[in-house]
Amino acid sequence: MESMAEGRRIAVVLAAGTGSRMKAGVAKQFLMLGGKPLIYYALHVMEESPVIDECILVTGEADMEKMRRDVVEKYGFRKVTAIIPGGSERCYSVANAMRWISAISKEDAGSEKDVVLIHDGARPFVTEKILETACQAAKEFEACVVAVPSKDTVKIADEEGFAAQTPERQKVWCVQTPQAFERNLITMAYGRFEEEWGKGRSLRGGRVPVTDDASVVERYTDVKVKLAEGDYANLKVTTPEDLILAEVLLEKNSF
Ligand code: C5P
Repeated sequence: MESMAEGRRIAVVLAAGTGSRMKAGVAKQFLMLGGKPLIYYALHVMEESPVIDECILVTGEADMEKMRRDVVEKYGFRKVTAIIPGGSERCYSVANAMRWISAISKEDAGSEKDVVLIHDGARPFVTEKILETACQAAKEFEACVVAVPSKDTVKIADEEGFAAQTPERQKVWCVQTPQAFERNLITMAYGRFEEEWGKGRSLRGGRVPVTDDASVVERYTDVKVKLAEGDYANLKVTTPEDLILAEVLLEKNSF
């Protein structure tokens, strides 16, 4: 375990999505991959990694008991110190976790040295190397996301569905998770987000314009977010074909 002088590394693992794009009728985190629930893989990497001290697992309110019994206890994930309920969108699930972390930080001296890594539980192929890279970049730059160069040319569309802009491909990166931050920076950024958008559900109606944690830091602080090296295999299992790809990657790489 990390000494207090160096700070703790806290992973927030998100598994509160409904997985509607998977069209499977079962919450995505419980879909089976290689005979184990999808959420098992990310938690396993965290459990085995010396880079992570503790995990906060965020899941749907109705799934909390199932998550504790069928995942955390069944596979003996001892680093999971809390299972907490998520919100209606990813950003609200993260905001709940940030409030949880702020509540425990009041009792902890030296919390400013801690790093928080936020990871999509739907990315089973995160590696020890990626966690290490993200942690180091967070220590050095305060805020980082792991990312890979876009293989495709990307178009920005106008309201009518016509191509309006084509960013230079060399400058386009596909952002993954973990996204890692100094603890006090990310809890403050999400605090400001909640002041504007409310807790758990939008105060304003309409969709919240935030799909990752870096954009919360970009929007509510002056800190620049470093892009650190991710991995093309660190895919997010979102649609049925992703699950087929994941099965193949699992077979070939023994993750
Ligand atoms: O929906 P999206 O693909 O952005 O989800 C990324 C991750 O965020 C998934 O691991 C999902 O379980 C999680 N999520 C969440 N709470 C939500 C929506 C998504 O924890 N309300």
